[in-house]
Amino acid sequence: MKHLTLPCGESVAALGQGTWRIGDDPARRREEIECLRRGIDLGLTLIDTAEMYGDGRSEALVGEAIDGRRDEVFLVSKVYPHNASRRAMQRSCDDSLRRLRVDAIDLYLLHWPGNVPLAETVEAFEALRRAGKIRHWGVSNVDLSLMGELHALPGGAAVQTDQVLYNLARRGVEWDLLPWLRERRIPVMAYSPLDEGRLVRRRGLVEFGQRHGMTPAQAAIAWLLARDGVIAIPKTGSRRRLEENALAIEHPLTTAQLEELDALFPPPKRATPLEMI
Ligand code: NDP
Repeated sequence: MKHLTLPCGESVAALGQGTWRIGDDPARRREEIECLRRGIDLGLTLIDTAEMYGDGRSEALVGEAIDGRRDEVFLVSKVYPHNASRRAMQRSCDDSLRRLRVDAIDLYLLHWPGNVPLAETVEAFEALRRAGKIRHWGVSNVDLSLMGELHALPGGAAVQTDQVLYNLARRGVEWDLLPWLRERRIPVMAYSPLDEGRLVRRRGLVEFGQRHGMTPAQAAIAWLLARDGVIAIPKTGSRRRLEENALAIEHPLTTAQLEELDALFPPPKRATPLEMI
């Protein structure tokens, strides 16, 4: 497994597991739990969840899946923007810890920017860190200009990642946000790496995969893994697809293959507002 180093010096798997929409269907629960466990076996030890996902059902399922294996995983969860104040964040974090059945979250993210001033959110994160309830903090869906503001705040340089929409079909962040983060050695966490599943049906990617002996999902993930400072967190509730996605690490892309993908999915030619789901 490829690993990346966070600004705090900790090493995390570059390929993790997303969990949005997991835990919603009781009939799929068993397979979803097995899937997360199999993912951990295969080295996909970074697990991403959020208090928002299924109103806590995703965190509860993750808690069950990692029971007895806490030390093997790097747990990421997110706080709603409206809970990102000094008072509300304490309670949100306690609720997440209870659902996840752990003493501490490894990386706690602001899900997207809201009305609470960032300075207060940073203070709230730092209070949780001092209390030992989170080990590190970061943000999600934060664009370049807000990232600059955050980084300049007292304590703001402790931000460990920006989790953003990034995949072959949505490359806007390459224009300015990614270079800025790279300069500061802050990895980006690419969410919806399969563009919510749409990429696997894109004809160009299907044909690319056929030419090079990989599935379109593997090609989309391998493309992200080929980039500096990028963590990818595909989601699947199927064990077969989990194993398929994990094999993306066995397909390091060559320069020629990366050029082919650039022709199919061109990089941005100008700055664009940060896209989010
Ligand atoms: P993804 O790009 O990971 O795609 C997930 C979809 O693709 C699911 O429908 C899944 O179906 C399907 N899929 C997975 N693997 C394969 C495969 N090999 N072949 C065909 N289909 C496949 O989308 P997500 O939006 O879920 O993003 C990943 C994670 O990122 C989320 O789960 C969440 O943790 C995080 N996220 C964060 C956001 C934020 O605002 N910070 C916003 C959105 C996502 P199935 O499960 O049936 O396999």
